[in-house]
Amino acid sequence: MNSTSTPTHCPYCALQCGMNLSPTPDGGVEVLERADFPVNRGALCGKGRTAPAVLSSRVRLTSPLVREGGALVPATWDEALDRIAGALGRIRAEHGADALGVFGGGGLTNEKAYTLGKFARVALGTSQIDYNGRFCMSSAAAAGTKAFGLDRGLPFPLEDIPRSGCVILVGSNLAETMPPSLRFLTELKENGGTLIVVDPRRTKTAEHADLHLAPRPGTDLALALGLLHLVVAEGRTDEAYIAERTTGWEDARAAAMAHWPEYVERITGVSVPQLREAVRMFCEPETAMVLTARGPEQQSKGTDTVGAWINLCLATGRAGRPYSGYGCLTGQGNGQGGREHGQKADQLPGYRKLDDPAARRHVSEVWGVDPDSLPGPGRSAYELLDALGTDIRALLLMGSNPVVSAPRAAHIEERITSLDFLAVCDVVLSETAELADVVLPVTQWAEETGTTTNLEGRVLLRRQAITPPEGIRSDLEVMHELAARLGVEKGFPTDPEEVFEELRRASAGGPADYSGITYRRLAEESGVFWPCPAPQSVDPQSVDPQSVDPQSVDRVMVADSGDASPAVTPDGPAREAEVRGAHPGTPHPGTPRLFLDRFATPDGRARFVPVAHRAAAEEPDDEYPVLLTTGRVVAQYQSGAQTRRVDELNAAAPGPFVELHPRLAARLGAAEGDPVAVVSRRGRAVAPARITHAIRPDTVFMPFHWPGEGRANTLTNPALDPTSRMPEFKACAVRVEAVTPAEAARD
Ligand code: SF4
Repeated sequence: MNSTSTPTHCPYCALQCGMNLSPTPDGGVEVLERADFPVNRGALCGKGRTAPAVLSSRVRLTSPLVREGGALVPATWDEALDRIAGALGRIRAEHGADALGVFGGGGLTNEKAYTLGKFARVALGTSQIDYNGRFCMSSAAAAGTKAFGLDRGLPFPLEDIPRSGCVILVGSNLAETMPPSLRFLTELKENGGTLIVVDPRRTKTAEHADLHLAPRPGTDLALALGLLHLVVAEGRTDEAYIAERTTGWEDARAAAMAHWPEYVERITGVSVPQLREAVRMFCEPETAMVLTARGPEQQSKGTDTVGAWINLCLATGRAGRPYSGYGCLTGQGNGQGGREHGQKADQLPGYRKLDDPAARRHVSEVWGVDPDSLPGPGRSAYELLDALGTDIRALLLMGSNPVVSAPRAAHIEERITSLDFLAVCDVVLSETAELADVVLPVTQWAEETGTTTNLEGRVLLRRQAITPPEGIRSDLEVMHELAARLGVEKGFPTDPEEVFEELRRASAGGPADYSGITYRRLAEESGVFWPCPAPQSVDPQSVDPQSVDPQSVDRVMVADSGDASPAVTPDGPAREAEVRGAHPGTPHPGTPRLFLDRFATPDGRARFVPVAHRAAAEEPDDEYPVLLTTGRVVAQYQSGAQTRRVDELNAAAPGPFVELHPRLAARLGAAEGDPVAVVSRRGRAVAPARITHAIRPDTVFMPFHWPGEGRANTLTNPALDPTSRMPEFKACAVRVEAVTPAEAARD
């Protein structure tokens, strides 16, 4: 780092790699290595390395746009803001506050996500707010909360992975989605640990595996149940752990015993010997982990699927112990923080529940409003988008591009176009922004300061390194201006640190307690893991151990100093008071490792949740005989709104493709690069064939980063998980067709 560099973090995925930004003579920045940040130790993928290109992109928005005569034309900020506030006010007066929708994003900083939730509930008074993080990890969050009483993606730092004996990686292609994290798996193997990868495709990550299990898409739940069956049958359960640290085992055991290996082999396509080998590899070492990602989560039974993998961990004593446990690899840059501070339909800041009277009282006091004025829980992301143009007449969209990223995207695009009014804040004219009535150009990443929370629960400070182009404002300024125009003059500061100070108070005592975290600490440390209560949150003189709010128990039944031999054994506020009593007022160190002594449930025990296999919402049939699964490629990110503007990334990943097995290609008569059509009950997409033995013959894969005729989400099924309301992106029935030259020309 040189003297003028600014240490900060990547704008893209949840790894939140550290980087230094150094000014360039043309007024931009270049990315320099930041070796001191422990997560990536200086390594970056191409997306992070090229991120400055979006700052100076020729397609960067630099002026508000308003729709005039069918076209978007430049306007002043006052014109644009007046138009938005006028439309929102008018529609609210005509149809009620719930006719206003707000849709956020997992890339927004904590400050923006917090303010957006407050803006919706206080300035607009609507319950209709959710965000695209619902599409990302909500099933894992729901399953983690059921089992452990608390959801934090990883309950331990990534650095614990190489110290485990075995890792089962389920539905994650880290080598492409988070390349610098691959070193944790490499080190795991160097240390003598083993890696099992569960993925229908032989991905770049699976190539590193000691054992690759390739189940049919949508059958991970049966696979986990089959493994648990074998664990029981082979006498590999940890009975002492089950008795001491869990509840509900008998029902979960009975459910697993109904999934015998041969039955599971028939469902999944994974052979019995492979199942037995996986159980041996997982159970023989003293420590082991299961890490899930979108594969098992983006299913209409994602919560149960993750629950089955958690059950496997609990039955074998692999949770809440050093170098053992279950974790979710959150995907979006601030997917973790974004789900903690109130932009989710059912949540208030600090991971509080919107339907909890105590939570409403606490947050409304911080906000200076009547608790009864806060709306209740609203619709989940897909349900909200599906209601556009009907119950919801206007939408404010920030940090998301659902025209590309939502399931059944053509339908969602049609819903968006049927709105009375759409306002979009973005850095470029995304496919969704193109449909807007007003587009506001906002600052991004290196042009603003704010915090994010990475997949480990580590809160980080992103720092402003560059002055934004003239004509651009921050999302916080937008919400401040709109709130004022809607008659709410106070409560929407534009300074991110001021927002964070309020967020600290709002989160204090909640499950995700940030009250002990300050910008100053974040500037001095490599992030701080939540929960991190402020010293005054637990006054040793005032704690009555008998009168403990379960919410506050959540945060103190988890503790660790972060060293290799966790010795802290808190058992509630009294214990924390005891620990702090020696050093009253000492800042809380943060909590790198959760659950080492208690889980965040009322009785401190993890809960087995009995689950049973069920089919995907849409199984193959005569008309649609193949399964489609979707995902990402290394050189693009999510809907591609930013990365598709970077020449180097476009050169590496210029467009969509259909990955298919040679046998399927032969049946179609398709050669490498030939256009093929993939047709589902929701639409048709066309992209070049990419023929490989790395995928099952009964499955095709499409990346979802592109709009247009190759848009994968034209095909995907919005069948929702009943608990998490997450759509089934990972499995739907399709047919694959050769495209004739005439059709190709027409397409
Ligand atoms: Fe950025 Fe993720 Fe790549 Fe790291 S792995 S550089 S955080 S996109």
